[in-house]
Amino acid sequence: MRKKTQFIHGGIFGDETTGAVSTPIYQVSTYQQESVGNHKGYEYSRTGNPTRHALEELIKDIEGGKRGFAFGSGMAAITSVMMLLNSGDHVILTDDVYGGTYRVMTKVLNRLGIESTFVDTSDVTKIKEAVRENTKALFIETPTNPLLKVTDIKEAVRVAKDHNLLTIVDNTFITPYFQNPLALGADVVLHSATKYLGGHSDVVAGLVVVNDETLGEELHFVQNSTGAILGPQDSWLLIRGIKTLGIRMEEHEHNTKAIVEFLEDHPNVENVFYPGLSHHHGHETAQTQASGFGAMVSFDVGTEEKAGEVISKLKYFTLAESLGAVESLISVPAKMTHASIPKDRREELGITDGLIRISVGIEDIEDLLEDLKQALS
Ligand SMILES: *Cc1c(COP(=O)(O)O)cnc(C)c1O
Repeated sequence: MRKKTQFIHGGIFGDETTGAVSTPIYQVSTYQQESVGNHKGYEYSRTGNPTRHALEELIKDIEGGKRGFAFGSGMAAITSVMMLLNSGDHVILTDDVYGGTYRVMTKVLNRLGIESTFVDTSDVTKIKEAVRENTKALFIETPTNPLLKVTDIKEAVRVAKDHNLLTIVDNTFITPYFQNPLALGADVVLHSATKYLGGHSDVVAGLVVVNDETLGEELHFVQNSTGAILGPQDSWLLIRGIKTLGIRMEEHEHNTKAIVEFLEDHPNVENVFYPGLSHHHGHETAQTQASGFGAMVSFDVGTEEKAGEVISKLKYFTLAESLGAVESLISVPAKMTHASIPKDRREELGITDGLIRISVGIEDIEDLLEDLKQALS
C-alpha cells in the first residue's frame, strides 16, 4: 500500500459492527463483561479504547513498526518513552532538541536519576564521544528547530547499536510522509501529533511507534501504569487529520519551495535555512534519508527591530508558536520558543535576534508571496 492510500486505509478502516466508514468516537470508560474476566478485548479505557486503538494501529502502519501508542501530548509521549529507562541511566540527546524535551530531561527526569548529555548529533563522532558506561539511549530530533539541522539517522543508529543504545527519533518536523526512522534502523519513533499529523491547530496529542514486540509490551505497561493516554475525541480528530497528511504535505512543500526561492533572492534577507537548499548543512543527508524537505523555513533579516516590523506587516502569517497546520504560522525564535536560552548560548547555536521562522501553510501561494513581498520591502 502506498503512503497516501495507507493514510486512508491503514490501521482499522471504519467500524465492523455497523459498517460506519469513519471509526466512531467510543466515548466510554468501561466495558461490560459477559462473565468474570470474559470480555471483548476492552476492560477499561486507560488500558485500551477502540477509537484510540484505531489511531494506534494507523500510526503503527504509517511508521512501519510493531506497535503504536497515543498519548495526551507530545511531551507525554516523550516522557512515557523515557520511563522505559531506570534511575542511573544516561541519555544522549541532540543539542537543539525541542525546548520541552530539554526541560523535562533537565528539570524533571534528572530528579528521578535519569542523566542526560546534549551534543551536536549532526556530527556522529560527538555521539560516540558522549557514550558512558551507563548510557542506555540516544534521542535524536531531525530536522531541528529553528535552523533545520539534519542528523544522519543510519549513521547515528550504527553508533548506537555498537554501544547497545536504544535509538529514539522525534520525527515531528518532517512527518512520516517524508521520513520513516524505523526503516533506517531506529527503535522508537515519536511525534508531537499536535503539529502536522493533526494538521489543523485543533488538537494536542503525541504518538509513538516501536519496532519490537517486547518493547511494545514494556511501553504499554508504562502507558497503562502512568496513564498519559489520549482521549477518544482527540484520537478521532487525529485519525481524520492523518487521512489528508499526504496531500497536505505536498502542498505545504510546494508552497515552501516557492517561498524559499523568493527569500533567497531578496536583498533584505541575509540567510535562509531550509534542508532543500543545496548549500544547507545536511542537504545531502536529508536527500538520502527523506523523500522531501518539509515545510519549515527560517530566515534572517538582520535585527530584532526589522523582524518585528516584517511580522507586523504580514496579513496571512499568524504570529504564534507551534507549526504544521493548514494556516501559515510565523515566529521569532529568540523572543518566543527560545527566549529562555541565554543570548550568548543562542548566538552560539546560530539563533540570532533577526531570525524569523515560518511554518508554511497551504494557502494560495500567490497570496503568501504577495504578502511576504510587501512586508519585506
Ligand atoms: C511541539 C513539539 C513537541 C512537544 O509536543 P506537544 O504536543 O506540544 O507536547 C516535541 N517535539 C517537537 C519537535 C515539537 O515540535
